[in-house]
Amino acid sequence: MKICVYPGSFDPVTNGHLDIINRAVKLCDKLIVAVLINTSKNPVFTIEERVGFLKCALKDHPDIEIDSFSGLLIDFIKEKKANAIIKGLRAVSDFEYELQMALLNKNLDPDVETLFMMTNINYSFLSSSAVRELARHSGNIDGFVPECIKDEILKKFKKAGV
Ligand code: ADP
Repeated sequence: MKICVYPGSFDPVTNGHLDIINRAVKLCDKLIVAVLINTSKNPVFTIEERVGFLKCALKDHPDIEIDSFSGLLIDFIKEKKANAIIKGLRAVSDFEYELQMALLNKNLDPDVETLFMMTNINYSFLSSSAVRELARHSGNIDGFVPECIKDEILKKFKKAGV
């Protein structure tokens, strides 16, 4: 049984993430989407909100596990007895950091592979930070995030002025 983990901060989940998830699930016997709790990116949304958004977006995929982790990804991988880490690549700018992380994780555990999936061209410009920036200025985020979380994202920025 091949278990894959797709990690990220998902602050918030975007349709670009979902595209990777929908493609990755076809390649793995089991896919775990893992939300990083204490990311250095200082998330706008709480861990409960970020997990809740994923649950809503993936409600038609009960086969996909949604979990959260803190600390080292490789420790979470070992705990889950996973075989591979899934990463999405949007542009060359993602590459250097991702190469470093993949080599570091390979060094920590040679049995774990990192698999890179190229972005869908339609989402190559899309990032969580772009969604946050749009939402902060009451911009249109239609088509960038799943419909069921759209209003909650906009509400958060309106309420908190974050
Ligand atoms: P972001 O970089 O948008 O803040 P995350 O840290 O949550 O997102 O990223 C989790 C994973 O999803 C990373 O492997 C990242 O490269 C990938 N990813 C994010 N947005 C996209 C996209 N539009 N297309 C493909 N992969 C993506």
